[in-house]
Amino acid sequence: MSSGFDTFIIVDWSGGNQGSVQPQADAVWGCVARENAVEDAVYLRNRNIAEKWLLNTLICERAAGRRVFVGFDFPFGYPVGFGVALTGSDDPFTLWDWFEARIKDAPTSNNRFDLAGQINSYFGGKGPFWGNALKRDIVDLPRTKLAYENSFPNRRKAEDYAKGAFTLWQMSGVGSVGGQTMMGLPVLARLRRHFGAELTVWPFEALGSPISIVEVWPSLTVDMAPAGWIKDQWQVHSLARNIAALDRDRLKEMLNIPITSEGWIFGIGFQDELREADKYLRNDCFALPQGVHWTPVDAALDDLRSRLQSVAKVKKMAVNSCLGRVLAADVVALRANPPLSNTAIDGYGFAGGRAAGPHRLPLVAVQAAAGERLKHSIPSGSAIRILTGAALPDGVDTVILQEDVEVADGFISFVGPLDVGANTRAAGEDVEVGEIVAKRGRRVTPADLAIISAIGVGEVSTYTQLRVGILSTGDELVCAGQNAAPGQIFDANRPMLMGLVEQLGHIPVDLGQVEDDRAALRKRLDEAVSQADIILTSGGASSGDEDHVSGLLNETGAMALWRIAIKPGRPLALGVWRGKPIFGLPGNPVAAMVCTLVFAAPAFAQMAGSVWMPPQGFQLPAAFSKQKKSGRREFLRARVRDGKVEVFVSEGSGRISSLAWAEGLVELPEDALHIHHGDMVRYIPWSGFNN
Ligand code: AMP
Ligand code: MG
Repeated sequence: MSSGFDTFIIVDWSGGNQGSVQPQADAVWGCVARENAVEDAVYLRNRNIAEKWLLNTLICERAAGRRVFVGFDFPFGYPVGFGVALTGSDDPFTLWDWFEARIKDAPTSNNRFDLAGQINSYFGGKGPFWGNALKRDIVDLPRTKLAYENSFPNRRKAEDYAKGAFTLWQMSGVGSVGGQTMMGLPVLARLRRHFGAELTVWPFEALGSPISIVEVWPSLTVDMAPAGWIKDQWQVHSLARNIAALDRDRLKEMLNIPITSEGWIFGIGFQDELREADKYLRNDCFALPQGVHWTPVDAALDDLRSRLQSVAKVKKMAVNSCLGRVLAADVVALRANPPLSNTAIDGYGFAGGRAAGPHRLPLVAVQAAAGERLKHSIPSGSAIRILTGAALPDGVDTVILQEDVEVADGFISFVGPLDVGANTRAAGEDVEVGEIVAKRGRRVTPADLAIISAIGVGEVSTYTQLRVGILSTGDELVCAGQNAAPGQIFDANRPMLMGLVEQLGHIPVDLGQVEDDRAALRKRLDEAVSQADIILTSGGASSGDEDHVSGLLNETGAMALWRIAIKPGRPLALGVWRGKPIFGLPGNPVAAMVCTLVFAAPAFAQMAGSVWMPPQGFQLPAAFSKQKKSGRREFLRARVRDGKVEVFVSEGSGRISSLAWAEGLVELPEDALHIHHGDMVRYIPWSGFNN
């Protein structure tokens, strides 16, 4: 790819003295990422080591013929006016060289504060720098910004958009960039000198050279470091990974900003997209190998499965409200079920079994009921009255049913035999402490609510729900309830798909309908990307003149028409719009429904953090006969009556009523030719697609 990058290096710079031998924050960190892999972040203890690492890495990347994006987290330029005032030139590189000639840098000391004071004195001791971390005072360098004057702008234009960015004039204090910049620009100046025309600097020079140096600011888009990561290590890792994950054309667009001598921060205006970039798809992600004519259904499913990944975030939820949500972590039993051995019946408890024949045992005065554990121990040879669910007191391991017992004068009498342990439940016989009761990726059912609650868990980690945008396309469509002109039809797909998506456990987002007009479609899709994680369109997906979904996606190079050997269903248009996947369904409602169930349902489940599950069907005798073309898979609208599978009278794909008649689909495999009455066929109820 001529204009693209192959390698992304992110460097988190530091202006201070060298860090400890053990990796720590606030030293220099670097990270290398390529399209599919991020290397471990590298701890660079001091700037000297960092400069050597950079030089080496860049030389190796160039030797391998790779084009490199290098991001540094300090400003490449100062607020307007400063460069001219100091060097006589507006060229930022003159300023870089000016610093390079004056900065003295050693691992344990450098002259940045002295140089800041010196610069202030050129301007009559009035700013622009302030902040001194040294013990000794420096002439003309105030320790605080109180009583400080500055004739230059306080911030660069870019910093207006970067909330929380520090001003370049601040030389000390946590997070101040003044010192970092002064200690970083000399290194950049030397890299420029070393690589000459091979290296360009954004946004001062046009990109296109093999190495591009870009100002970045991880705090703009990178979230808090997860446990176990050092902040700077996480920032370089996360930013390198996300920039590498960007679609290359999109990256080019993000880099396309006006040239300015102040410099700019890469990613301003694209924060959300950059933050989520590793969750977005690249435009070419659905490309199929050339030359394949009709893709078999299973191959198409495998392809989808390998190209889509979860986009869900994790959220803690009370168990009571998590029905239907996907678990983001295994649920582990905090307590056994049952927690204590107890009785399964109302009766009388004692120790040990009894042989055949009559028995008589004295009854103790207390009784054991559910909800409390008796502290008494029951003497050997005695019995106690005990009620269902009550924990077995010490001295009881067997219970006899009350109906089998006679009670008189403080004694119970019954006839054996009775086994030891009869009518009791052992502690933990259902679930032991530490056992997994529900696995990550599972959609929570009512029964799951029971077991999760029973083992004492009140809150679970769940995935946020997938937002599925649903859009109908076609000039002929009007909404039900509106007036329809003779040539028009009512939009049947959108209500159907909204319902289907909801039943699959996702959030349907109504994107309305658009006419067959490319500009209108483009506008609607642009709006949709911020509202939905995936977009489901119906209509306009083939390759005709009025098929604008495929037309528009083709225009942007982000479209693959998957010709799948399936009936019903015309080509499935799979595309990407601004990083979000688009499933372009056929307009025909029957085909739209079948394609959604067969292809979209498992794909959505995977994107929602759940597991990819094939539909669950079963074999039943056919109550129909049929001739079929070989080489393609067919789905017939079907239902079960009297243990046999019936199919709808017509296979016409315009028969919307057949979908309402049916209770599932029959799946006929590629190699089937003749189906006779009584042959076993695979029936998948609607619910079998929804797991
Ligand atoms: P298309 O895929 O756009 O060529 O449409 C195929 C057929 O499906 C045409 O007969 C359309 O009128 C019909 N169709 C398209 N969208 C819908 C919809 N939302 N509801 C009902 N029928 C539709
Ligand atoms: Mg159409």
